[in-house]
Amino acid sequence: MKIYDLIGIGFGPSNIALAITLEEQKQSGYGIESFFIEKQPNFAWHANMLLDNAHMQVSFLKDLATMRNPSSHFTFINYLHQKNRLQDFINLKTFFPSRHEFNDYLTWAASHFDHCCAYGEEVIEVLPEKRGDEVALLRIRSRNREQVVHERLTRNLVISIGGQPRIPESFAPLKGDPRVFHSNNYLKEIKHHPHAKKIAVVGGGQSAAEIFMDLHHRYDKAQVDLIMRARAIKPSDDSPFVNEIFNTDFTDYVFNSSDQQRTEILNEFWHTNYAAPDLVLIEQIFNVFYRQKVAGIERHRFLRRHEVKQAVSQNDGIQFVLHDLNTEQDRTATYDAVVLATGYNRDYHKLLLAPILPYFGDMQVDRQYRLNSVAQFKPSVFLQGACESSHGLSDTLLSVTAVRTHEIAQALISASNQTTSAQLKRAMPSALAY
Ligand code: NAP
Repeated sequence: MKIYDLIGIGFGPSNIALAITLEEQKQSGYGIESFFIEKQPNFAWHANMLLDNAHMQVSFLKDLATMRNPSSHFTFINYLHQKNRLQDFINLKTFFPSRHEFNDYLTWAASHFDHCCAYGEEVIEVLPEKRGDEVALLRIRSRNREQVVHERLTRNLVISIGGQPRIPESFAPLKGDPRVFHSNNYLKEIKHHPHAKKIAVVGGGQSAAEIFMDLHHRYDKAQVDLIMRARAIKPSDDSPFVNEIFNTDFTDYVFNSSDQQRTEILNEFWHTNYAAPDLVLIEQIFNVFYRQKVAGIERHRFLRRHEVKQAVSQNDGIQFVLHDLNTEQDRTATYDAVVLATGYNRDYHKLLLAPILPYFGDMQVDRQYRLNSVAQFKPSVFLQGACESSHGLSDTLLSVTAVRTHEIAQALISASNQTTSAQLKRAMPSALAY
């Protein structure tokens, strides 16, 4: 069986950026043969959150390549040039393109790598391949839509699978109920509820805010309850000094800090990214409620400081027991559809790696995003987007992606040089002895 230098699980922005870096390294003479496996049938970037008015929250200059190599073919500016839109984009005078356009850019970039990406295959297992006492390779098992299982061998692995929908515990019993869905599936699911009269949106982050406004425009009359535990919707702080935490050199600072300092940094800046919609969006929501007051009609409700204590499936809807955290009172409300804009978990890689977890001890990563392993475990396993606790808040965002892939590529090249020289030593001991 063919042995790849690197297999990547997932083909979203992080692994596309890595494919680009490796391609450009090839032009400098470093050949890493890589292959990527993507669950979706074709490239799509959060397809179910491509709302009409949604735009990027990160500057287009933090694209797949510019921060690493501004003269790359794969910059957003070159994409615009190729599409004959560069001048029009300049006239837009924005750093924040629509998500539709950025998705198109990512699709364009991904299309250059169709020869080394299997779409529509879900990785189901990562198994160790032993040579004597050593784990020399990894066997990656994936299953396609026709349930056919594929196996591939690799010397190294990079996992870049994004987040998995976080479902609050009170909603666990409703799994499979089509009236309850996560923001991750919003556009796909909401179209099944054209006649909904009461809709709940749970959460107070960018997803909840975007979905609230989308529902407000999508329906003429439906009532939307925006339900969150916080006292207020707070904006993301993207002022320049704060934004420096997303600079690439800040990663060094976070990584080299003590555990306690790192926790303090994460806590201090948590709201730059989480539960923090754009100010403009917050103002739009406030405006909706203000206009309701002027008209004297209470269509939507803003249920701040409310927690969903219980959610029960009934014939006429999903009944919530809503706990008011201010008054400690409970009340009930019934909804035709419920959107859980409750964020994402980023620990699914542990499940994928279950058969080899014992080789990784406490699952710490080094500066180059590689899981520390015992000496007998030879492959390097890198994580992209799951190292926030060690590398800082930029880890789950586009901010450092281009530069991070350079760091991973360097680690791969030096690991592959070491392997080659070890193989040479084994193959030609006498030649090397001279
Ligand atoms: P998020 O920022 O993590 O917010 C999740 C929200 O769900 C928070 O308000 C949180 O409230 C609430 N929540 C979590 N668990 C809960 C529970 N058990 N019960 C009740 N509420 C709960 O998630 P997100 O809005 O999906 O954003 C995720 C990332 O995607 C962010 O980086 C965001 O910027 C990005 N994003 C970008 C765009 C764009 O570029 N246009 C669009 C959407 C999202 P608590 O604070 O009370 O825990």
